[in-house]
Amino acid sequence: MNSDDSSLRQQELFSEEEFSASELISSPNPMVRENGSGPEGASCRGCAHLYGKRYNRIYYKCGLRGDTNGPGTDHRVRWPACARYKEG
Ligand code: SF4
Repeated sequence: MNSDDSSLRQQELFSEEEFSASELISSPNPMVRENGSGPEGASCRGCAHLYGKRYNRIYYKCGLRGDTNGPGTDHRVRWPACARYKEG
């Protein structure tokens, strides 16, 4: 496991209720940093733009972020939703 895997695994351990306002400013979700925060308490899990690609496991992607077919565009379902959230 490399340090990126470890970091992502740590992010998975946080529930969506544990994201504070200051965490949203420096959100792990690049779409929040680019577009601002979505609805209070919403996570990417409930967004219609989230989809999964199944290989040896499921790799989640945000349809509005693009997909490089690499880990750089992998998306966490527990990340706080961005302003482009669409109820799924
Ligand atoms: S568009 Fe949806 S899936 Fe993508 S970052 Fe925003 S809330 Fe998450």
